[in-house]
Amino acid sequence: MARRRLSHHQKKRIDEAQKALTTDNDRHQEGLVISHHGGKIIVEKPDGGLATCAVKSNLGAIVCGDLVIFEETADDEFRVLAIKPRDNLLQRLDGFGHVKSIAANITQLLICLAVKPEPNLFLLDQYLLSAEQQRIEPVIVLNKIELLDSPEDPFKLDSIYTPIGYQVIKISVKEQWGMAALKSVLDEKTTVLSGVSGVGKSSITSELLPDTYIKIAEISEANEEGRHTTRTSRLYHLPNAGNLIDTPGVRGFNPLLDPMLSVSAGFREIDQHSAHCRFANCKHTNEPKCAVIDAVKDGEIADSRYQHYLRMLSPG
Ligand code: GDP
Ligand code: ZN
Repeated sequence: MARRRLSHHQKKRIDEAQKALTTDNDRHQEGLVISHHGGKIIVEKPDGGLATCAVKSNLGAIVCGDLVIFEETADDEFRVLAIKPRDNLLQRLDGFGHVKSIAANITQLLICLAVKPEPNLFLLDQYLLSAEQQRIEPVIVLNKIELLDSPEDPFKLDSIYTPIGYQVIKISVKEQWGMAALKSVLDEKTTVLSGVSGVGKSSITSELLPDTYIKIAEISEANEEGRHTTRTSRLYHLPNAGNLIDTPGVRGFNPLLDPMLSVSAGFREIDQHSAHCRFANCKHTNEPKCAVIDAVKDGEIADSRYQHYLRMLSPG
């Protein structure tokens, strides 16, 4: 269905309303959503103070990382009035196939893998494509490397992913290997962790959070009923201007792929080679003079990446 276009008049009115929200009213303030749970939103003001806000019903989902305009409605009662335009919105599919929002204005997705359970490279490529489509920089983390018999990486992450520009960080939370390198990639970024259950996301999260926060998390969890099902999403400030958004209930989310966006554009190396295909609309499946197929034959494109590309091109 085509999206209804806004008339010039409507657009002007919305622009004016937005302007009024940001500048004309002393009671309107801007802040960062750092927690959302049970219909209440905690907004951090520029001075670091916190406001617990109710939400106007017609705003749609508000998530951690959102910048919002809010106002004081009564003494120490606040209400969110508007969400500022987002750079991006990380979304997932829930168990019923519904699209759910996870976090907004993310700059980095940490894709966590482990020596055990063994990495599923098809799932990794789905995460990578999803991140590319949503304009979020992915970083690959391989945990539990102390379980490897030799320093060689049996999953070939380095040889497949480093040449196409993805950072691969190898760590062992257990042995505290590589933790400094991991921490430094979070500097000045707003990061979300993803990966299947058991790879060590909770362990990594507690390593990354400054000690003060762990205490807060323990207290707030102890107060909640059914603590394993209703844990709150939270944005944590890290040293060196980084933020970590932890979404404990949905860390192992299914990556959401946008059927309207090109699959090949999200495979960096395929996108690059495709400039040399004979046909501008080449799908790189069996076309003549396809530069991508040639590059796979020459070993310039990893076979696993190309196979996963084909699988994602025609899912099911
Ligand atoms: P999550 O499901 O991804 O959050 O994973 P957890 O953090 O709960 O970790 C799953 C299991 O892996 C736990 O038993 C951890 O103690 C263990 N684990 C975490 N990091 C390491 C590691 O570096 N080496 C080993 N051998 N086990 C680890
Ligand atoms: Zn081609």
